[in-house]
Amino acid sequence: MMIKKNYCYASLALCAFTTILGCDDGHFILPRDLTKKTRKTTKAKNPFDLKKVPLKAGVVPIVVLGAGPGGLSAGLYAAAQFDTVIIAGEEPSLLTETSYVENWLGAPHQLGADLIQKSREQAESAGARIIDSTVKKVDLSKWPFTITLDDGKVMHALALIVATGARPRMLGVPGEKEYWAKGVSACARCDSLFYKNKNVMVVGGGDGAIEQAVELARYAKEVTIVHRRSQLRAAGSMQTRLKSYPQIHIMYDVDVKEVIGDKKKVTGIKLFNNQTKKQEIVPIDGVFLAIGHRPNTDLVKDVLEADSLGYIILQCSTQQTSIPGVFAAGDVADPHYRQAIVAAGDGAKAAIDAIEFLETLGFTLAEANKLRTVSNVEQKEEKQTFEK
Ligand SMILES: Cc1cc2nc3c(=O)[nH]c(=O)nc-3n(C[C@H](O)[C@H](O)[C@H](O)COP(=O)(O)OP(=O)(O)OC[C@H]3O[C@@H](n4cnc5c(N)ncnc54)[C@H](O)[C@@H]3O)c2cc1C
Repeated sequence: MMIKKNYCYASLALCAFTTILGCDDGHFILPRDLTKKTRKTTKAKNPFDLKKVPLKAGVVPIVVLGAGPGGLSAGLYAAAQFDTVIIAGEEPSLLTETSYVENWLGAPHQLGADLIQKSREQAESAGARIIDSTVKKVDLSKWPFTITLDDGKVMHALALIVATGARPRMLGVPGEKEYWAKGVSACARCDSLFYKNKNVMVVGGGDGAIEQAVELARYAKEVTIVHRRSQLRAAGSMQTRLKSYPQIHIMYDVDVKEVIGDKKKVTGIKLFNNQTKKQEIVPIDGVFLAIGHRPNTDLVKDVLEADSLGYIILQCSTQQTSIPGVFAAGDVADPHYRQAIVAAGDGAKAAIDAIEFLETLGFTLAEANKLRTVSNVEQKEEKQTFEK
């Protein structure tokens, strides 16, 4: 287990439960089973005691962090059963930063931003409450989990779904942001169709660069991988794949200095050879960044088990994280697929897991209604006081 020691000291009860977490017939062990096991052996107290949860506004059955395909799908599914709040965050979903999405099932050729807007509306009409705020702090050491928003408001979640996404790493050169989605991309699987018979460059030297080059080679006339070192970092087997693609070339020892365009789209790229010290401008139609992604896990990185790149690790083919009651969905826990439809599927699974978790604790619709009534009364009183 990679759970940080400090966190464990602060939350002995949850950690005691967490460290014995294991798979049971391919599914996670629910709190009910954990309680039984723990009673027999260590007589630990049940940290998920519903009777101790205060009935007050701000206690929410399910809270979702993030409003991309992962978070919105989670909200849609969760709200069908229990009250759900989605905290949308400051930055929009990555999908809004692309132009047309061609691979969304049942709705081809949709603008990414439109897809997200429609998904928001669908989640809201299912009953999810969307708050356009950023989460400043999450405390997972005690249950219910405490979520502090950037305006200081505090919320307590009986189940939490983290769907905060991941961002592609950028080169930090002029023109890159200006021509993002106008020729600069980081997803060949998503955008290769737009480059039929065109010349494109892939920046990077790892497995991801080769994957993107191969995706692009199906459509593009020529694909050039530009790498700043004299050897690729990609695995030997990946490099062997390149031999079947005569249209893929490699430029070594080259740094990208600038992405050049005509205000509407990319037209070229400025390269600097770090061996010969020569600079050149190469005409090009598209630039694909393949220098890695950074999962948005700052809020939970010290407490949830993560892999060496920072992606949240899931338990036993579910969306459950290393802390019972905390689930993850989408790119934040997916170093491999990183597709909107996969994130949406994860979101549905995370919501179902969260609902099962609450039901196992004995949280029923009757409990949910009690909570909602208290919450409505308190919110009404707060509003009246404010209006006076
Ligand atoms: C150039 C490009 C083109 C793409 N095109 C396609 C495509 O055509 N088809 C496809 O299937 N996929 C495409 N993708 C991939 C797709 O965008 C992602 O796989 C998808 O958006 C992941 O969904 P997500 O819900 O995990 O994260 P995101 O969509 O990134 O959403 C993350 C959410 O978390 C929120 N958040 C982050 N931090 C906080 C915080 N502290 N508090 C609260 N909220 C927070 C953000 O504000 C955002 O709402 C593309 C990606 C790129 C880079």
